[in-house]
Amino acid sequence: MDEPLDRSTIWPYGNGEPGPFHYARHAHPTGVEAERALGELDGGEALIFASGTGAVTALALTLLAPGDTVALAQDAYYGTGVLFRELERWGLRHVLFDQTGPPPADVQLVWTEAPSNPLLTMPDLQAAAAHPAPVVCDSTAATPIHLRPLEHGCDYVLHSATKYLAGHHDALLGGVVCRRSEDAARLHEVRTRTGIVAAPDAAWLLLRGLKTLDVRVERQTASARELAGRLAEHPAVEVVRYPGFGGLLSFDVSDGAAAQAVETGTRLITNATSLGGVDSTMESRHRWEPERVPPGLLRLSVGLEPVDSLWDDLHAALDASSR
Ligand code: PLP
Repeated sequence: MDEPLDRSTIWPYGNGEPGPFHYARHAHPTGVEAERALGELDGGEALIFASGTGAVTALALTLLAPGDTVALAQDAYYGTGVLFRELERWGLRHVLFDQTGPPPADVQLVWTEAPSNPLLTMPDLQAAAAHPAPVVCDSTAATPIHLRPLEHGCDYVLHSATKYLAGHHDALLGGVVCRRSEDAARLHEVRTRTGIVAAPDAAWLLLRGLKTLDVRVERQTASARELAGRLAEHPAVEVVRYPGFGGLLSFDVSDGAAAQAVETGTRLITNATSLGGVDSTMESRHRWEPERVPPGLLRLSVGLEPVDSLWDDLHAALDASSR
């Protein structure tokens, strides 16, 4: 059964009093329903936003003040780093740290990512949770199917719901799941004031996506695990990065020219950015983040295509690139 999609921006007052739904920037029924479903999956109180980056912005504005410092995992999604650099103009500092160990002292927020995009490192969540500052885990690539960061002591889970949660490359969305109700209430207040809200249509697509999340992620994981193993055996592949779960992996070929030949050489796998959709995508990440990603690195988001078809496609492109 489909949940109703309510595109209204206003709802009538009852006896002269605004009800829970009165103006869509504050809350709308489709969004609240999607938040209920996401909160259940991660074991906390969820809020959804206009994009994953919008969710990062809302969290930063809620939790931090000028002069504060964020400990940001050095491997975290490059866009998160770009955003924190942008916020330097507003007096917000950040220091990078290796998330496989403990975060540095004297910071007001700890930001981890599980697993990191595209280097696929896993944070030491126990060490992060032992830090006195609040801890965020961007769990976009793990999804609640593989990891529930609140159970590991994190205070907030962040999702680019654009990826696995919505899952079809047709909705831009973010989500934050809070351990404590009072934190969710404050974040909700900031969301209303800043207007970083998710549209009802996107919320509806999230609801639809969540219904198949477990079967999609299980299949993507099985295929990614298989492909990681086969890639490691291919002579043109120098490194494979795969944490052992999830549908995202990255691997290195010899140099930028070889990476370009592979990413443009596949037929089934689309040469495009983003990840977490039912269709496989692959790209060289060096074009976006040349300062930290080797020229030969390719990020592969494994979709729902048959794994043997994906392997045929990949190894044909790899064979051609090294000829
Ligand atoms: N976090 C991670 C791990 C991501 O991969 C992305 C996008 O690629 C984001 C956050 C940002 O999400 P969005 O593109 O929905 O703003």
